[in-house]
Amino acid sequence: MTATSLRETSAADSGRETFASLNPATGDVVGTYPVTSAEEVDAALDRATAAATWWAGLGFDGRKDVMKRWKGVITRRMNQLAEVVHAETGKPHGDALLEIGLAIDHIAWASGHAKKVLGKQKVSSGMLMVNQSASVSYQPLGVVGVIGPWNYPVFTPMGSIAYALAAGNAVVFKPSEYTPGVGKWLVDSFAEVAGDHPVLQLITGFGPTGGALAGSPKVDKVAFTGSTATGKKVMAAAAENLTPVVIEAGGKDAMIVDADADLPAAVDAALWGAMGNAGQTCTGMERVYVHEKVYDEFVSQIVEAAREIRPGNDADAHYGPATMPSQLAVISDHVDDAIARGGRAVVGSADCVGERYVQPTILVDVPEDSRAITDETFGPTLVVNKVASMDEAVARTNATRYGLGASVFAKKSGSVIAQQIRSGMVSVNAVIAFAGIPALPFGGVGDSGFGRIHGPDGLKEFTYAHAVTNQRFKSALPLTSFKRTE
Ligand code: NAD
Repeated sequence: MTATSLRETSAADSGRETFASLNPATGDVVGTYPVTSAEEVDAALDRATAAATWWAGLGFDGRKDVMKRWKGVITRRMNQLAEVVHAETGKPHGDALLEIGLAIDHIAWASGHAKKVLGKQKVSSGMLMVNQSASVSYQPLGVVGVIGPWNYPVFTPMGSIAYALAAGNAVVFKPSEYTPGVGKWLVDSFAEVAGDHPVLQLITGFGPTGGALAGSPKVDKVAFTGSTATGKKVMAAAAENLTPVVIEAGGKDAMIVDADADLPAAVDAALWGAMGNAGQTCTGMERVYVHEKVYDEFVSQIVEAAREIRPGNDADAHYGPATMPSQLAVISDHVDDAIARGGRAVVGSADCVGERYVQPTILVDVPEDSRAITDETFGPTLVVNKVASMDEAVARTNATRYGLGASVFAKKSGSVIAQQIRSGMVSVNAVIAFAGIPALPFGGVGDSGFGRIHGPDGLKEFTYAHAVTNQRFKSALPLTSFKRTE
């Protein structure tokens, strides 16, 4: 049996359906996990409902203490967790440590700010209701279902889990079928600090397990991160019970390079943004629009720099194998399509896709209706196209169904251009910097989804607003009574 089929086939083991997680670089089995059935999902949600009451009752300070200890456990053992991430995704150990570090930052930020953001706040009562004091607080929803992808199996789900927990919810977490070991590690580490209370539980398996979670009336919110196609299915399942969802889906991020940009910095950022994590980043750079005045120089510099980029399974490799083997065909199709329509590969070739690894590939002169421009490629490939003006660059950047992140390199007009881009996030003179700042809202528009994780918006996402008024004195104008005179 090949590595691909083992990963995508669940097997019967002692009457229990299980599946194997595989090392994408070697094909070795990393671990075997149960396929959680719909009945088991239901039971997990019942346990979560009970645990949510205990957890909410701890209050902001009590939860902050527990989460601080959780942060300590992950920090002390981050190398061990990085090994599991490396084994299941193939990404270099250093990249795994980076995403773990970001996740730790989120635990600290969410638990440290929850009281201030969600606690009771007085608001002005206005002119007519001057006799009332008014306040708002943000209450936990109860049980949050978190469904995660494989590309950043620690950082990405933590962007929902840490915020849902800090807001006072219990969480049932379904990691990707490609990274169940990482999910188990995270849930086990939380159990060490939460005692017997199943505040954070693990369910493992494929689409139907996630579907059972999203479609259950016992879940109060679903936080989904994954592809746009699956996001639609999750939303449809949740709609049955009017369950709210936050959808963090795919992207087709672009970088704009103006004529006055620091070219070596832009080249470096474009390469890292496109090739880092083998291009398997929702906010990865997939397109670059360069002003015609510096286009040739940009291409010459990026071709030179790309020669140094090397995929592999060792600690010094720039990126690892494709984590999800089925993506290899998509990447190959996008490169073939771009070349068939007149695009040229200035780095790599139509044969860039191997059995496990994709060689760095840079395409130029790619028509804007090519799949490499319109659809998410999710590989270490980059389109570099020429534009005559920054207006054209903005128009092309925005001509996508997606709207997750973007990047602008310009000395004078960076901030002005950033304001014109239709996306949830933009970095000026850097790439994907927004993802590393816990206080910033993370999310997109259009096919990239809706709702926000991270920051104050991310905390509020897992609550409902609770408005309370308190009558301080009888008003001369009895607005909320039929009595016209006292
Ligand atoms: P995917 O959509 O295939 O799977 C995501 C999760 O959904 C997995 O846990 C999967 O088992 C589960 N799932 C599958 N079918 C389901 C169903 N019918 N109901 C409920 N759950 C179901 O995505 P993936 O391949 O794991 O991840 C890659 C995608 O994620 C890319 O498109 C990438 O851009 C996107 N992504 C987005 C962000 C973001 O924040 N916007 C972050 C990381 C990844």
